[in-house]
Order: sequence, then C-alpha cells, then structure tokens
Amino acid sequence: MATDPVCKMEVPEKEMDSIRTKYGTKILFFCSDSCKKNFEKDPSKYT
Ligand SMILES: [Zn+2]
Repeated sequence: MATDPVCKMEVPEKEMDSIRTKYGTKILFFCSDSCKKNFEKDPSKYT
C-alpha cells in the first residue's frame, strides 16, 4: 500500500488504474483525481 500524501488514505499501488504522479525520483499515489490536483497545485505543502 502507498499513502496518498494529500488525505493520508492508503492506496493500493499495484492497481493498473491507480492515480499517480512522478515527483522528483518518487512515484506518488492518490485516491482520486482531486487529491492529485491538490498535490500538483502545491507539491511542497505535502512532501
Ligand atoms: Zn486522497
């Protein structure tokens, strides 16, 4: 499991359709598109 950095929910990272983004050398996973959008607005807030 990976942890959504925005809402701290656990996200199964092996699912092919999981919502993810690359941040530096890391791949981050999100529970929803809205969490991904929030992260992309201000990544430094969540890392
Ligand atoms: Zn989330």
